[in-house]
Amino acid sequence: MCLGRAQYIALLHVENRNGESFRHFLLRILLLSTKISPMPACNEYPTDLFSDSYEEARQKFKDSLAIIRQLFPNAQHQSHSLSIDPALTIDWITSEPPAKEKLFILTTGQHGLEGFTGAAVQQLFIHEYLPMLDHATTGLLLVHAINPWGMKHRRKVNGNNVDLNRNFNLHSHEYDPLFNPVARQLEQLVYPRIALRASWINRVLFYLRVIANVLRVGRSDFMAGALMGQYCFPDGIYYGGTEAEEETQVMMRLYQSMLAAYSQVVHLDMHTGYGPRRQMSLVNTPHELASSAELAARFGYPLVQKSNAEEFYATRGDMIGYLHQLKSGLPHIKRFYASTFEFGTYGDSLLDGIRSLAVMVFEMQARCFGVKSVDSGRWIERKFDDLYDIRDEKWVNKALADARQAFEGILKAEGYWE
Ligand SMILES: [Zn+2]
Repeated sequence: MCLGRAQYIALLHVENRNGESFRHFLLRILLLSTKISPMPACNEYPTDLFSDSYEEARQKFKDSLAIIRQLFPNAQHQSHSLSIDPALTIDWITSEPPAKEKLFILTTGQHGLEGFTGAAVQQLFIHEYLPMLDHATTGLLLVHAINPWGMKHRRKVNGNNVDLNRNFNLHSHEYDPLFNPVARQLEQLVYPRIALRASWINRVLFYLRVIANVLRVGRSDFMAGALMGQYCFPDGIYYGGTEAEEETQVMMRLYQSMLAAYSQVVHLDMHTGYGPRRQMSLVNTPHELASSAELAARFGYPLVQKSNAEEFYATRGDMIGYLHQLKSGLPHIKRFYASTFEFGTYGDSLLDGIRSLAVMVFEMQARCFGVKSVDSGRWIERKFDDLYDIRDEKWVNKALADARQAFEGILKAEGYWE
């Protein structure tokens, strides 16, 4: 059995006199009796959650405003055109409830190409989980493509070659070229400044150089040097820029204005690339006080990690870390949870880590210094897609199942799904 949209909406608006969530009780009974997942609208559910282009994904997001308004009548769509190309926009939908208690934030596409999985998971959330939120007390901030240039051009960085998840620093002195000295030791390896020839010999040589460097500086220093972020090589990977980029400034202003009025916040940010191939990792920053084991038990989710050197890898200038710092100056926020969904692609072995590093380095090399042949260009584009935008049916189904499990666990544990 499948509920029609009208039935579902009517059900959602049944409330008892106390304004308490009697509707959720009824909904749960109905869902249990029909043994279906919480899918509100068969006829409006997208035939494909994934999109093939940035424009298609953006249109799906814009179209979802009408659906959101059936549940959140105050919902508004706004956008910001990028100065580099005004046709590219950061889009967001907000809804301010009559009684501002809880705020739910879901962001996508900070790493451009990763935005395709992010946008699909966002569509899933809108169609399956938004009805679980109380529109009278819960505010919304749903963002499509923090980095639209990267999504359009199938890159991870923005138009200035900046990794926006190393660009969210609270203070200007944090864009410090001297930060991460190990990155400078790895300069020859991680930032090759010649055109890319994607021959197997070059790939093997890269692997051997990585192994030699791991042995020279140690695995944890190597990981930190390569992945933590750096502010001295604009043609290198994980370059964090010299100041807050336009996209970062837009998001900082949005966060500052939205966080001003709520006592509780949940923020979930969508990424792909790292972690086990078929198990989404819930990645928290070191600012999160609860341990990974505590959070795994609280959310009933099997893989929770912290972005420190022991569990994942440490970073500077990441967006979730910025949110934690912003929140620490806002004493009216009594309860706060912000995390990243990392949908793993290659896998989490040492060899998988070296493979993904190689693809990132080769892609940056090809974009900044060109390619020696058309085949080399095609090869690296294909590999980059494999690392950040997988469409394999088995992978997609598991990713969506993991997203559902995490949404349910977090919404229930944080009191958003009553
Ligand atoms: Zn990412």
